[in-house]
Amino acid sequence: MSFSSLVSDITYKDRDLDDRRSLVSRARSYASTAATSVSISGDIASQLHGGYSHPLARAWQAERQLTKSMLIYPLFVSDNPDDETLIPSLPGQYRRGVNKLVPYLTPLVRKGLKSVILFGVPLAPGSKDALGTNADDPKGPVMSSIRLLRRSFPSLFIVADVCLCEYTTHGHCGILRDDGGLNNALSVDRVSDVAMAYAEAGAHCVAPSDMNDGRIRAIKLKLIEAGIAHKVVLMSYAAKFSGCLYGPFRDAAGSCPSFGDRKCYQLPPGGRGLARRAIQRDINEGADIIMVKPASQYLDIISDAKDIGQNLPVAAYQVSGEFAMIHAGAKAGVFDLKAMAFEATEGILRAGATIVVSYFTPQFLDWLSN
Ligand SMILES: [Zn+2]
Repeated sequence: MSFSSLVSDITYKDRDLDDRRSLVSRARSYASTAATSVSISGDIASQLHGGYSHPLARAWQAERQLTKSMLIYPLFVSDNPDDETLIPSLPGQYRRGVNKLVPYLTPLVRKGLKSVILFGVPLAPGSKDALGTNADDPKGPVMSSIRLLRRSFPSLFIVADVCLCEYTTHGHCGILRDDGGLNNALSVDRVSDVAMAYAEAGAHCVAPSDMNDGRIRAIKLKLIEAGIAHKVVLMSYAAKFSGCLYGPFRDAAGSCPSFGDRKCYQLPPGGRGLARRAIQRDINEGADIIMVKPASQYLDIISDAKDIGQNLPVAAYQVSGEFAMIHAGAKAGVFDLKAMAFEATEGILRAGATIVVSYFTPQFLDWLSN
């Protein structure tokens, strides 16, 4: 039945009522018919407002709702055990030494923190070299933190970011050739060794962010050879775009390239086809989770990742620049911080991600009920 015939049907039934009520009722019906004939095209399915008229009914419209288990919190761990230094470009975020981790994380785990991703920050003079030797130093910040967090928080899921750029003197994500370009074969060899070291130290998940070609396959093969592939999640930064949104992170991790940039291995911002190929390649090479980075600027790529990897979870990294921009907007009074954090993060879920790496995680633990 069309909407207009329903209205006239109701109007007709009103005539059976007593005169006075009938007049009022008909008047209302005529008014309503006149109004709806302007705004309704005739199809009753055009009536949407009722479906989300109640707060709970509005919540039911979301295909995915943000929960605490979707969040991974990035931690910067320095080689100074007692370090606790505010990172000026990342509001409220600190670089911490291993001695500060457990006291900081204890209340967060109690509030429902499920996962962290670790980035090592070597600060000691002479701690960097051309090969990133200290990336897999057993006494270094990442491997010490993995062992400490596994012991202290048995339920916490530990992700270790795998890259060389924090540990190389040149700040690039691999080993360089004489001409300054990446030596892909040597880089893959080294990066996969570092991933293995983190996995053997107890990381539940290793996440190579270096973008060298073929590193997912190399890591998967080494995990299989070592007999631990069945218990380590391999999360690939598959579609990682170059751009200016990583500024605060480089500040935090001290990983700015000393010359050149990362455009030869990070994806060009307009490279949607290239991103699709990288996602497909990393799935074929054995990735268990595909990550897209940055998040809010690349919702189309998140959606592509979900389309290409239908049977894989898709993660999105809401990067330092996105976080800093939301803080700047809130500070300037442009919008409310909490509302914008939810809008941005729920937008990422809508695009297809079910895992979000976010600096807002501690706040979401307060804002979310589950
Ligand atoms: Zn890197």
